[in-house]
Amino acid sequence: MSRPRVVIAGAGFGGLTCARALKKAPVDVLLVDRNNYHLFTPLLYQVASAVLDPGEIARPVRQLIRPLRNADFLMARITGADLQQRQLFTDHGPLAYDYLVLASGSQSDYFGNASLAQHAFGLKELDEGLAVRNRILMRFEEARWTDDRERRRTLLTFAVVGGGPTGVEMAGALSELIHLVLSKDYRDLDLGLVRVVLLEAAGSLLGTFVEPLRDAARRSLEKKGVEVLLKAKVADVTANSILLADGHEIPASTVIWTAGVRASDLGSLMSLPLARQARVQVLPTLQVAGHPEAFVIGDLAGAIDESGGGAPLPMLIPVAMQEGKHVAATIRDVLRGYGATNFLYKDPGIMATIGRNSAVAQLGPVRLKGFLGWLMWLTVHLINVVSFRSRVVVLVNWAWDYLFYDRPIRLIVRAADDRPD
Ligand SMILES: Cc1cc2nc3c(=O)[nH]c(=O)nc-3n(C[C@H](O)[C@H](O)[C@H](O)COP(=O)(O)OP(=O)(O)OC[C@H]3O[C@@H](n4cnc5c(N)ncnc54)[C@H](O)[C@@H]3O)c2cc1C
Repeated sequence: MSRPRVVIAGAGFGGLTCARALKKAPVDVLLVDRNNYHLFTPLLYQVASAVLDPGEIARPVRQLIRPLRNADFLMARITGADLQQRQLFTDHGPLAYDYLVLASGSQSDYFGNASLAQHAFGLKELDEGLAVRNRILMRFEEARWTDDRERRRTLLTFAVVGGGPTGVEMAGALSELIHLVLSKDYRDLDLGLVRVVLLEAAGSLLGTFVEPLRDAARRSLEKKGVEVLLKAKVADVTANSILLADGHEIPASTVIWTAGVRASDLGSLMSLPLARQARVQVLPTLQVAGHPEAFVIGDLAGAIDESGGGAPLPMLIPVAMQEGKHVAATIRDVLRGYGATNFLYKDPGIMATIGRNSAVAQLGPVRLKGFLGWLMWLTVHLINVVSFRSRVVVLVNWAWDYLFYDRPIRLIVRAADDRPD
């Protein structure tokens, strides 16, 4: 008799964790993803700021599922699903399932602003990280050989929009790349013209952290040469400037957008009921109402924090991983004849790093900042980075960078166009 088939849509943190937790279950698992790799997003800004190479923060899904005897992988773009017929649609054809786990994550949200979508760089995908790295390095090359001082100033102004952890981390790392590393490569460039500007629409950075840590992060960024502009709402972006809602204009030819995120389009493609940020409404068990065999996890799921006052759960890795484990346990329980149980989130805390020796960490009652916060950040990220080999390579790179302020990865590499099939 054939075993029930679990199709997992998305091989990110939620999907991969779910597949791993089904390792010993009497099911066949098929992981589907448009990329053949799993991306460790917390270090994406380090690819963008030329600290790490893509291979150090991403691993082939096939390698990761090698120990799972009951799992296979299909590289395909998911285009929708028919929950009545129990089929997931992909550009590779429809896939029948007995259980479906939707885990397609989230994407940048430009809030319908066409100028942002056209001119700003998102920082969600691996190729976006590389595109940002190429752009920064290209701007320095152009600036070196431009005679027009105003043009040089514009080329050397880098704006990061969004004062959440990703924006703070990107701005800090970018400023260090420029002041500690590129300053040595471009000795003849007037680095007094460089500006790294972090724009945040709210009145403080890192809104989910307690106030002393928010202030510490701001001070640490300013010490590293980042201009922090609060209550600065971006209205429009052109190829060479940012216009703020209050009419202020900043000449800048590189804009990195980390201020908006919404769930992947899968929920709307499947006409499922949506919550805030286009996240799919789910039951407390993470099931889709009326479809006990279909689950939604991670950034795509609009799950409520049942143990923390009923607020929506944040789009974070521990949420996605815990939900992935919970759904795997539910599938195992259902196969044994038990019912589904509610998901309860256990919050391990939050962190953000500011460059190579400072971070803020809020772990329950424990609050760390500065160097101690950074040691905590370093330990946690090193433990969690995708594989043992990556851990060693990443540690060596970080140590090199820390000791010598140098980064060997300052290559401008663009992919050649693929040949047609
Ligand atoms: C730059 C950055 C830094 C971050 N830093 C942190 C951090 O430090 N700590 C933290 O807790 N969280 C962090 N996050 C958030 C964290 O990455 C997400 O909360 C987490 O990845 C959610 O897991 P997921 O499984 O829902 O989605 P993901 O891990 O994003 O996985 C979704 C998968 O679905 C695939 N997919 C999407 N659409 C399709 C489709 N149509 N067809 C096929 N495949 C598809 C994608 O390729 C991807 O592999 C960060 C996010 C970013 C972007």
